[in-house]
Order: sequence, then C-alpha cells, then structure tokens
Amino acid sequence: MNLLLSSAVISLLAALTLGYSSTNYPYRTASKDDVSYANMDVLQANHFELIVDVDFDKKVVKGVQTIFFDALQDVSEIVLDIQGLTIQRCTYTIAGKGLPGQIEANFDTFDDTAMGTSGLIIYMTDKAFKGDQVTAAIQYTINQDSVSVNWLSPAQTAGKVYPYMYTKCTAIHCRSIAPLQDSPSIKITYAGAISCSDQLKANMSAPFTTAESNAPGKMTYHFQSFTLIPSYLLAMAVGDLATRKIGARTYVISEPSVVDDYAQVFDQLEVILNKTESYMTPVPYVWGSYTVLVQPPSFPVGGMENPLLTFVSPSIMQKDKSQVFVAAHEIAHSWSGNLVTQRDWHNLWLNEGLTVFIERKVSGLLHGEPFAKIENYLGNITVWEDINTFGQSSTQSSLYPLTGNNPDGVYSELPYEKGNQFVDYLQIILNEGQQETDFLQKFLAFYINKYKYQSVTYLEFRLTYNEFVKANFDQAKATDLISKVDWNAWIIQGGKNPYQLDYTTPDATTFQELADNYVRLDGYDQSPDNYMIYNQTDNLNLKVILLQQLLVRTKYLSLQSMMKLDKDYGCTWDVNPEVGQRWFPLAIALQYQDAYDDAFSYVSTWGRQKYILPVYTALVRNNQKSLAIKWYNANVNFYHPIAAKSIRKIIFSGFEEFEHIKVAETLLRSQK
Ligand SMILES: [Zn+2]
Repeated sequence: MNLLLSSAVISLLAALTLGYSSTNYPYRTASKDDVSYANMDVLQANHFELIVDVDFDKKVVKGVQTIFFDALQDVSEIVLDIQGLTIQRCTYTIAGKGLPGQIEANFDTFDDTAMGTSGLIIYMTDKAFKGDQVTAAIQYTINQDSVSVNWLSPAQTAGKVYPYMYTKCTAIHCRSIAPLQDSPSIKITYAGAISCSDQLKANMSAPFTTAESNAPGKMTYHFQSFTLIPSYLLAMAVGDLATRKIGARTYVISEPSVVDDYAQVFDQLEVILNKTESYMTPVPYVWGSYTVLVQPPSFPVGGMENPLLTFVSPSIMQKDKSQVFVAAHEIAHSWSGNLVTQRDWHNLWLNEGLTVFIERKVSGLLHGEPFAKIENYLGNITVWEDINTFGQSSTQSSLYPLTGNNPDGVYSELPYEKGNQFVDYLQIILNEGQQETDFLQKFLAFYINKYKYQSVTYLEFRLTYNEFVKANFDQAKATDLISKVDWNAWIIQGGKNPYQLDYTTPDATTFQELADNYVRLDGYDQSPDNYMIYNQTDNLNLKVILLQQLLVRTKYLSLQSMMKLDKDYGCTWDVNPEVGQRWFPLAIALQYQDAYDDAFSYVSTWGRQKYILPVYTALVRNNQKSLAIKWYNANVNFYHPIAAKSIRKIIFSGFEEFEHIKVAETLLRSQK
C-alpha cells in the first residue's frame, strides 16, 4: 500500500482536539495477549502507515499513525495501546459505506498504572460490520520523556557535531512510539516516513524507498515493509549516519567517524549470514539484505533484531571480534522470532531459546564445537543463578512465566538459556544412536517453514514436534520420542530441568580451578603456576569463567588477592567490557580503591545494562549508595530511559526489596 498521507498532512491536521478525558479502564486485555488492551479480537490490523517529524530542538516527535483493520465482528469502538503519548486528533472511515472521507471521532484514554501502560478508545459514530475495512488516523506527539526514545546531544555521539535519536520497543514499548495493537500476536506490514534535518539520515526497520526535501533544511525519508512483522520490531534511528557494504547482502551503518572500523570488525557478517541460512535449509533468508546499525554507547542492550536494521551496542565492536556472536544471534532471529514469532510474552523462549540454539550451532560450525560448548557452560551458570533468584517452584523460573503484568518485570536469561537447553535435549533424543541425519535440524526447519509469517505458542511447537516424529520415524520409535518429552516439566514447571545436560569442558574446568588457586594463595604468595593461561588464551569466554568464578567466591577473596590479580591480568584497565562487568563489582565489594576511577569511567562509557547494572548493584549492596547516586546523576542524560529506570530501581528500592534488586540484576545481565 502507498502512503495515503504525506508528511505535509501533519501541518494540515491542526490541533483540533475533540472530546477528551482520561478515564478509569473498564476495558479488558486481549484474549490472545494479556498485556495488550487493543480490541484485536473484533478488529484486526493488517497494515499501518506511520509519518513522523523529529524535532531535535524540542526533543519531541509529531506523528500521524494510520491503521487499516479488518472487522472480525460488528464494532463501534477502536481500542489501541498507547504509552505516554499525547493524542491530538482521531478520525476514521469505513470502506464502501459512502462516508465522506475521514470522519472526526471522539476519543478517550485510560491508564493501567500497575502495568505502566494506557489505552486509546476511538468512538465511531458509524458502526462497522463484520467483514468491513476500517481505517483510523491518529495525530499525536511523542513527548521528551518517552520511555523508548533516547535523545543524544552532539557531545554524546562519536562525531560530536550532530544530535542523535533512536527507539527501543521491546517488550511492550512500541505503543510509546505510535498507537498500535501492540501485541506479537498481530503481524503486520507498514510504511513509514521520517522528516528530519537534511543534515541527518533516518533509518527504519523496513526497506528504504525514496527521500525528498519538501521544506527548507528538511528531508523526508520513506520506507515500505512487505514482510509481516510484530509491532516490537518497529524501529527508528536518526543521526549523522553512513553505510558500508560488507558482502553481497550485508551492510553496516554507523557514524562516519567509526563506520570503517566497525565494518572491519564485521568483515565476517556475510559468512555468518550464509552459514545460518545453510543451517536453516530449506527455509531461505526472506528479508533481502541484512544491515547492522551500530548505535552510540548508550544503547541499553547488546542487540535488537529489527528486520533489515539490527541495532547493536558498540560494546560488541571489540577489535578481537570476541563479541561478534551477538550478530550471529540477531541473524538467527531472522528465522526464529522474526519469521515465526511468539504469540505473547509468556512464550518468549520460542523466540530466544531457539535463537540461542541456532546461534551456538552456527558458532560451533564456524569456531568449533568446544567454543560453542563453553558458551553453553556459561549459559548454564546463569540458568542456575536465575532459578535460585526466582525460586525453584516459582512460575518465573519456568519457560512459561505467568505474571499478568509488564513483561519487563520478569525479564531474565531463562528464556534464552533454559530454552536453548530444551532444544538441546530434543537434539539429543532425536539424533540418538545415529549420526547420518541431523533430525533436530530437520525438525527446526519443518517448524519454521510450517509457521512462517505467523505467531505461535509452545502448543503449536509441541504439536509440530509430535507431527514431525510421526512422519520421520517408525511407530515404535515415534511413540518413544513423544513419551521422552515431559512438556509440563520442561515448560510449565519452574526449577531445574528434568534432564541435566553436561556442558563441562577441560578448559572450563581449568579456568574454574585457576579461580580456586587465587583464593587459596590469598595474594601473598606467588601466582598460580599456570596463571599465564589467562593472558595467553584468545577465547574471551574462558577469561569470563575465571572472573565469574571469582565473583561467586567474593567473600573468600582479600584485597591482596585483588592486587595480585590486577598485577597479573590488568583487569582494571582491560577495555573489554565483559571483564569490567565482573571485575568492577568485585572491586567494589572488596573496596579495592585503585579501581574506582576506572569503574566510574566504565559506567560513564557504556549504557548497556548488562555491563552497568552489576556495578550499581554492587555499590548499593556494599553500603556505597551515595556513590551510586553520584555516578548515576553524572550520567543520567547519557543513559537510555529504560536503563536509567533500571538503575533508579536498584538505587532506590532499598534493602527491604533486596529480592527485587536481585531480579533486576538478573534481568539485565545479558539482554540481547
Ligand atoms: Zn534474542
């Protein structure tokens, strides 16, 4: 569909505000998604056209959102999800009714403060009947304090000349970008237009079509997606941006002063894409090109798999390419998540667990099985930490957490790592006793192909597993394979898995023992005999194992041990943020003052929550809250609003909510 409205319409739609008042919410969440108030059960969106004008001076975005619906039942109201938007005007039309174009509509809003979300009700004076095509247009403003928009001053960019803005929608923050049926159960195409200063470039998670200058000093960029996506994959970035081609289908975008360095780090991007596509055969990469946009350092997560425009943190741009696996993860989402999507946030493991499995499978193909196994070893540590944080019997330590609230509140690595372990278990039983055929690969491809462009729950995944084994094995074997999967124990119940997978490797054990030796020597004697293995390895994950094991042993470490470790390894000055993530909390716990200046520099350099939240948590836990507040205040304008909110939660929730802090820490340890 073409854009019905040009950006000029924004100015034509004068601020005519009809009957508006905020009300309590008599509305219920959707039957398919308990964190969306949209009435998608009766009115299903199939396309939207979003026009926005980005004003860096006022730090606001003015928008017009036009949504196209199919009426599934007779309906006279349109209910949409919103969050923090100021609604100026709503109109609607119903095709084939002889209505005079867009009709002014009264509207109302309501707030669900517990969930931190709101709803918009548009009252149609003409009733739409089942089968009708309904269109609604909403004029609105994204305010300066939007939870999903990060505004950066020129000083906070690499180039230091131009301002910058980007959005981050997961889990349910797309509704703070535009009124929507903000649910992954709805998959939709969209067209977008972004107007901004002609000195800047705009990007969206859809193919670019044209750009034109329709006002002095302004440029409007147009985008059009042809592939169905869930709302959380809507994304925008506006700034001084340049593009570099990596391979036949792969590109890198970032600021001009850093884009060439980043292109160098990502020189294997095409190889990773090809290898992933090869593994997913016969389901091809359907999105056309693949582009990574490397964000400024405030980006709050490692990566976000927006189709055609993956966002990544520059923290993964290490020259040793040790963090490029994050790109492998986001590429894998092109199949698991973006093509076949979780229907709701309870089923997050379907997106993330499958993606981690595919990512590590590709890592193993590229770097060898031991490399992937050590990633699983580290992942298993976080599974245990998360299970202990949430509790063995808690629904939150299951792959189907039932909380009925904002999914941000229960975010953890469990859907990633426990989900990956479940798929790994399926691999073990499906391939047992033979090596000729990779039945797990065949099953994943069968599942993705069957549900491509759709949203599913684990029930569809389960049915597909049963269907697959019946079609590929004799009756006795199929019955055995079906009986071997206790879906209730794996998915619904919390706590440990019903089958324990072994991810230990000789290298992992050696580095774990190295941590024990540092504790035993207590910093006074010589270093452990094999201490140089840390400096000699080129596998960052092995270094992480040592540091992680030291963290677990914090109460057995002394200040002298810290000084010895720093002398041997220079952890305080290591530029790799994976080191700082473990080292600085350790330094704070042991009051190792030599590291404090660098710790402050660290939380002022990175906005990725995985890296900075452990530092703030360590300060609060170790009675240094005033320092945490000082460091936070110095950086509050740099952090993305989501990260700033997480830090405030850690600092101000207090020890009486200690469990809450632990949850927040887990939640953001490794979002990707
Ligand atoms: Zn992911």
